[in-house]
Amino acid sequence: MKCPVCFREMERFDSNHWRCEEHLIFNDTYCQGFWKGYEKAHKLQQDQKIVVLCGSSRFADVMAVCAWLLEKEEGVICLGLHLLPWWYATKDEIPDHLAEHEGVADRMNELHLRKIDLAHEIFVINVNDYIGDDTKREIEYTKGKGLPIRWYSHDPIGIKVQQIITSRLEEVGYEKSTD
Ligand SMILES: [Zn+2]
Repeated sequence: MKCPVCFREMERFDSNHWRCEEHLIFNDTYCQGFWKGYEKAHKLQQDQKIVVLCGSSRFADVMAVCAWLLEKEEGVICLGLHLLPWWYATKDEIPDHLAEHEGVADRMNELHLRKIDLAHEIFVINVNDYIGDDTKREIEYTKGKGLPIRWYSHDPIGIKVQQIITSRLEEVGYEKSTD
């Protein structure tokens, strides 16, 4: 029996108790209940699909809509870049490369790879076929892990979002820039 606190093997204390060198004496019922719950939680975690969205921060709005549709229609958990509200900006608007602007680009890029470590697949936001260097690195990292890659340009969810953009925004003269 393993200790519910430190996960190390415990010794028998008496007929219905276990003892951890570091911690306490636990009774059989508690230990069995703990590990049963632990396995159940672990199973749930394995069954829950996680999709990590990758792409330039200039597409954070497109990414947010894709994440919304993926969670709503596929019941997956989405991780990606966060779309910030207009009031976060100190000047006129939030710059595309906010992480660079705030001097945290390397840290945030590294953190994104840790998100991919949790992923079952990634979803690349390649609007107008644009893929930046950071995203290219994330794609290579994902390929190295042998995980599936979905593409905005060819995925039903991406196509749906692109149709929304086209129908809602082009009519008011809005064009998604890739500069
Ligand atoms: Zn212990």
